[in-house]
Amino acid sequence: MKSLSLLFFLCVTVWADAHIFIYHRFGDNRYPSTNTTIEELRKEFDYFKNNGYEVIPLKKLVLALQDKQPIPDNWVVLTIDDNYKSFYTNGLPLFREYNYPFSMFVTVESTDKKYGDFMSWAELQEIAKYGALEFHSLTHPHMTHMSDEAITKDFEVGLALFEKNLGFKPQYFSYPFGEFNPRVKKIAASFGFKSILNQNMGAVGSFSDPLDLDRSALVGKSDLPSFLKYKALNASWIEPTMLLKDGKVGRLHVKTMENAKKGGIYISEHGFREVALENGEFQADINKTLTKERTRIMISIGNKISTKLLVKDEHYGIK
Ligand SMILES: [Zn+2]
Repeated sequence: MKSLSLLFFLCVTVWADAHIFIYHRFGDNRYPSTNTTIEELRKEFDYFKNNGYEVIPLKKLVLALQDKQPIPDNWVVLTIDDNYKSFYTNGLPLFREYNYPFSMFVTVESTDKKYGDFMSWAELQEIAKYGALEFHSLTHPHMTHMSDEAITKDFEVGLALFEKNLGFKPQYFSYPFGEFNPRVKKIAASFGFKSILNQNMGAVGSFSDPLDLDRSALVGKSDLPSFLKYKALNASWIEPTMLLKDGKVGRLHVKTMENAKKGGIYISEHGFREVALENGEFQADINKTLTKERTRIMISIGNKISTKLLVKDEHYGIK
């Protein structure tokens, strides 16, 4: 009996996954595609509260990943990209009411040059009492379009301004627009962040790479319960891992740790198809020229998913 309950416990912990969500603007109807109304935010916070979810600081999740600890299924991390004033005026009061921690990723130039709609340095210093402030670049550029030198400069100048005005070094980074590839990731990682966050819908399992954590965006009326049902698929992407200038994608090859015989491939603009798997391996012909600026490829086995965002790289291989 004892061994049976231990087995059950192991199954539960092995398959448990945390979820990281991203918000942008709060109670700001001018920008519906990045806004969360306060009514919706309250609904989501009540859902976490009434369904046994624990909203934890990002740091706690990253420490558990680094220590190879099991990741409880009920962990939720809330992040906010871009230091919009609407968080300060509309969002923060609700975070304080529920006592929920948050990590805000700061686009440094927007505050430093006092762009309208963004928080001031003094306001950022004030909100640092309630949550963590992290790095989201200097100028919010499309990083895959930039040379190595230009990306490096954005980090160097942005990090120096961040530290000068806030008095500490940020520990975490999120990609502007969620756009990256192996070249951009390598440069970002060279700055020593403890964790790097993307914008790929998914979940975080004990095997997740702290330098490539998936986050799902909560904007408008989002279907929070379905987001929470997704699990992380333990997948190694062999190809494609990036998009060259010509947009051509030939094969898809991804290894997973699953035993399943069937899986799904979804390509934005091209739809979903089911594929047969051998030893949990996805091997499929794509043979498409991707003309959109950004294309999402998601593979799934049941409710376990792994996503790759392909963005054209104008500088790959150019020295
Ligand atoms: Zn952003």
